[in-house]
Amino acid sequence: MVPEIIHSCIKRIARLPGIGQRQASRIVFSLLRSKEHVATPLVTDLEHLLLLQSCSSCSFPHEPRETTLCTICANPHRNKNTIMIIEKETDLLTIEKAKIFNGTYFVLGSLVNPIEPDSEHRFNLQPLLVRITTNPEIKKEIIFALSPTATGNLTATHIGRILKEHNVHTTHLGRGLPNGGDVEFTDEETIIAAFTNRK
Ligand SMILES: [Zn+2]
Repeated sequence: MVPEIIHSCIKRIARLPGIGQRQASRIVFSLLRSKEHVATPLVTDLEHLLLLQSCSSCSFPHEPRETTLCTICANPHRNKNTIMIIEKETDLLTIEKAKIFNGTYFVLGSLVNPIEPDSEHRFNLQPLLVRITTNPEIKKEIIFALSPTATGNLTATHIGRILKEHNVHTTHLGRGLPNGGDVEFTDEETIIAAFTNRK
């Protein structure tokens, strides 16, 4: 009764973070009802979205242009001597909104997952290590801004060990962040306090 393509779309949308089967079904049927105003322009946007490239320095997406850097890494007013390690792009948006940090970022894209074997080997830390070796100033401080969850802490320990081999001094956002919380959903005041109290 239900066309196969609908099942397929529901399955794909349900794979997005925070979306279950039920919500995915509502999204798909809603797209079908609003072809002209939502679905068709969304298809066009998605095509453009997929053309974005990853910054060669921090992995944040940027428009394909002559440079391989995102607007933050290419900005001459940002302090290139300080790097903040974050899990995902939306964490960057939260931290930028707090206007407390003028350095640059390194987006991991995921965290170490204790039930997934070898998940710690998935990170490509090469661009980060290149930045450290070409700019020794960075060794003075790399800030971990990972969510204070079991996986966030495991990831910080794993990457911290690698950075230590390169004589990098690392700090972590302070205790202001609630245990088990997510950087992305932390309010500006708490982010500012956690940044100021980093250790
Ligand atoms: Zn960048």
